[in-house]
Amino acid sequence: MSEDCIFCSIVDGEIPARVVHEGEEAIAFLDANPLAPGHTLVIPKTHNERLADMDEDTANAVFQTLYDLVDVVERGVDADGANVGFNDGEAAGQEVPHVHGHIIPRFEGDGGYPLHAVAGESPDLSEDELDEIASDIESRAND
Ligand code: AMP
Ligand code: ZN
Repeated sequence: MSEDCIFCSIVDGEIPARVVHEGEEAIAFLDANPLAPGHTLVIPKTHNERLADMDEDTANAVFQTLYDLVDVVERGVDADGANVGFNDGEAAGQEVPHVHGHIIPRFEGDGGYPLHAVAGESPDLSEDELDEIASDIESRAND
């Protein structure tokens, strides 16, 4: 629990939210400023700012809850699909510093964009640069 965290306050029931699912380690509620009907946030009950700050059990609970809810949310609002994602860090647009996964229902012809639209201009990377990036990430992933 972090004293001045709005999402910790929701977990503690100190401020209201439209909770749609509550498990032992994760909770889901409707976004207060929805980008679409059914826009849902899934958060860990413990205060973790970034994805990598969560321990494995907490992360499993968050991702399991996303998995359990995505179809439920889509059917609940009769959506045709959904974008599911995290803004991880301020540079990525994270405004509330408590991990939250967004489920944003999507509808045919809603005028929105795919996740590809979130980053800036696409970089022009050579084959060598792509190889180097892959090898840097791979060596850290297998550390
Ligand atoms: P992000 O930019 O990924 O940090 O998104 C934060 C999200 O939290 C936004 O979509 C807000 O609309 C949503 N939000 C902020 N405060 C509340 C609240 N009290 N209850 C529900 N959703 C909230
Ligand atoms: Zn918090």
